[in-house]
Amino acid sequence: MMADSITMETLYRRLIKMGTAERNVPMKNYTTFKTGGLADIVFCPGTREQLRDALALMRAQSVPVTVIGGGSNLLVSDDGIRGVVVRLACDNGRPGLIRLCGDELVCAGAEAGKREFVNFCLDAGLEGMEFLAGMPGCIGGGIVMNAGTNMGTFADILETVEFLDGGGLVQTMEVTRDKAHYRKIDLGDDAIVLGGYFRLRRASDPDAARNTVSRLISERGVKHPLGYPSAGSVFKNPDGYSSWKLINDAGLKGKRIGGAMVSELHTNFIINVDNATSEDVRSLIVCVQNEVYARFGVRLEPEVKLVGEF
Ligand SMILES: Cc1cc2nc3c(=O)[nH]c(=O)nc-3n(C[C@H](O)[C@H](O)[C@H](O)COP(=O)(O)OP(=O)(O)OC[C@H]3O[C@@H](n4cnc5c(N)ncnc54)[C@H](O)[C@@H]3O)c2cc1C
Repeated sequence: MMADSITMETLYRRLIKMGTAERNVPMKNYTTFKTGGLADIVFCPGTREQLRDALALMRAQSVPVTVIGGGSNLLVSDDGIRGVVVRLACDNGRPGLIRLCGDELVCAGAEAGKREFVNFCLDAGLEGMEFLAGMPGCIGGGIVMNAGTNMGTFADILETVEFLDGGGLVQTMEVTRDKAHYRKIDLGDDAIVLGGYFRLRRASDPDAARNTVSRLISERGVKHPLGYPSAGSVFKNPDGYSSWKLINDAGLKGKRIGGAMVSELHTNFIINVDNATSEDVRSLIVCVQNEVYARFGVRLEPEVKLVGEF
C-alpha cells in the first residue's frame, strides 16, 4: 500500500529526527547512471538504532522501503520511487565505520565506501582485498551483490555478515561457500545489511599490495568508459560466454537509443551519453537482449537492478 501525502509529510517530520531526510529527491543525484525520477523521501539514518526505529515506523505505516548504497548498480524508473529510500552510504567517511577487529580481521559498516575500505586495509598493512580497487559503491551494496572481478569476490574475504531481518532483528551469518553465488549472497529478500567482518592477510610486501591497487585502478581507466555515467557491466556473463563478446559480435557496439549507448570501449557497459532517461537505458537493455538472443540463442540477464515501475 502506498502512503498518502499527509502520511509522507508526517513520516518525513519524524525521520528528520532520526538522521537526514529529503523530500522529492531526483534519484539521478544518487545513481551513477545519473537517471531516475523523484523518490518521495530519501532517508539516511544517523545510527543503527535510528535505522531500526525508522524501519519499525515505516512497517507500521505500510510504507514501501527501498534500500540503496552507492547507487552504482541501479537503474531507477523515470517515475521515481514511492515511499522511503533508505540510503546506507556515507559520503564523507565516518570515524569508526571501518576498524581493525583483530590482527587480520577488519570490520566495516554497510555505509563505508569500497575505496575507503581498500585504503584502510592498505594502511593497516593487509592484502587480499586488492580486487576491489576502483570498484564504486559501498560495502553493503558490495556484500548484497557479492561484487567482484575475475580476481575475487566479496565472499572470498567476507567471514561474517551482520544484517537486520524482516522483523527488524539483528542477525549474524557466517558466509560459507554454499551461501555465495555469482553476484548474490543468500541473506533473505528483506535483509538489510549492516556490515561485515573481513578476513584478510598480513601483506608480506605492503608496497606490492599498494602497487597492485594502483595498477588495477589505472587498468580500469583504460578498459572502462569512466568518462560517462554508467552502472558498470549491465549483464551477467552467461555460463561459458562473455556478455561483452556476445554484444560485440551481435554488432551492437555504439548502438544508441535516446541518450543511452552501448559503449564502444567496453560493450557490456551502457553509458549515458546525452541526458538519457532510464527508459532509454531499459529500451537499450531489451534491444541488446533481443539481438543477442536472435543471433546466438543466449539470454542475457541484467546484473543491474531495476528499481521502481518500468
Ligand atoms: C564504473 C563501474 C564499475 C563497476 N565495476 C564492477 C565490478 O568490477 N564488479 C562488480 O561486481 N560490480 C561492479 N560495478 C557495479 C557496482 O559498483 C557493484 O555492484 C557495487 O557493489 C554496488 O554497490 P552499491 O553500494 O553502489 O549498491 P547499490 O547500487 O546502491 O545497490 C545494489 C543492490 O544492493 C542493494 N543494497 C545496497 N545496500 C544494501 C544494504 N545495506 N542492505 C541491503 N541491500 C542493499 C540494493 O537494493 C540493490 O539491490 C561497477 C559499477 C560501475 C559504475
